[in-house]
Amino acid sequence: MLTSDVENFPGFPDPVMGPDLIMRMKSQAERLGAKLIQEDVAKVNFGLYPFEVGTDSEVVRALSVIIATGANPRRLNLESEMRLMGRGVSNCAVCDGFFFRGKKVAVVGGGDTAMEEATFLAKFASSVQVIHRRNDLRASEALKREAHSNPKISFVWDSIVTDVLGQKRVEGIRVKNVKTEEEGVLQVDGLFVAIGYDPNTEIFKGQVELDEKGYLAVKNGTESSVPGIFVAGDVHDFRYRQAITAAADGCKALLDAEKFLKQKLEAQIVT
Ligand code: NAP
Repeated sequence: MLTSDVENFPGFPDPVMGPDLIMRMKSQAERLGAKLIQEDVAKVNFGLYPFEVGTDSEVVRALSVIIATGANPRRLNLESEMRLMGRGVSNCAVCDGFFFRGKKVAVVGGGDTAMEEATFLAKFASSVQVIHRRNDLRASEALKREAHSNPKISFVWDSIVTDVLGQKRVEGIRVKNVKTEEEGVLQVDGLFVAIGYDPNTEIFKGQVELDEKGYLAVKNGTESSVPGIFVAGDVHDFRYRQAITAAADGCKALLDAEKFLKQKLEAQIVT
């Protein structure tokens, strides 16, 4: 819903706007009989069967559940970052990198995502400056090496972004060295914030197994730790994070849920 042009969804020769793609998926699901309840889920109980999924106004009982609650990119929490989101500020190089052909961009972060974003952006941008709050990268050796060996990528160490400049589009960023307290302006056309993601798993804590990073633990395709509860998309996948990979996961989770229900039904007929 927060992406502008989606360039890599099969079946769309021209780019499709993120919200437009979602509305088309919604109509497709409704045409096939899905009922949409547009409310936040406040509580789940997977200890009972049928499972309970509770919103503020009702409790839905389900024979199987697919969790696809996604992950939110972490923000710098600057007013200017939010104002210029989609106007030069982005959380996704794969989605928006193309728009920065021949332009100067900055990436914030020192982890695997930041290195991947920087390396991807270097294919299009004229220069990529990575701003990291320490002088040591957290990223894996292979990704670090790739970024260090790219002549378009340079590093601004021990520094944080304190402001994004520009009224209608990003025109630069204000950067502060956390050791010397010195501030300066970098003239860039784009800012990619790559400081990690928070999976939306809060309501599932204690109900299904999470991994050490807080993502839903998945085994054998799309199975969670509770039989009958399946998982799709970024709520477990911190690696690919694309609409198309999440959609593929959704298809797999549905096939797995269908198989689960069939086995349940067969077991009931036998007993
Ligand atoms: P991450 O490993 O948590 O790294 C986040 C980076 O952002 C860190 O360098 C952190 O700095 C910095 N940071 C956090 N909050 C900040 C803030 N408010 N201001 C400035 N900088 C901030 O997140 P990630 O890179 O998204 O990776 C998440 C997980 O996915 C990792 O386990 C990673 O290995 C995995 N992953 C793997 C691949 C791959 O295998 N190809 C690709 C992407 C991600 P500090 O270092 O100082 O904490």
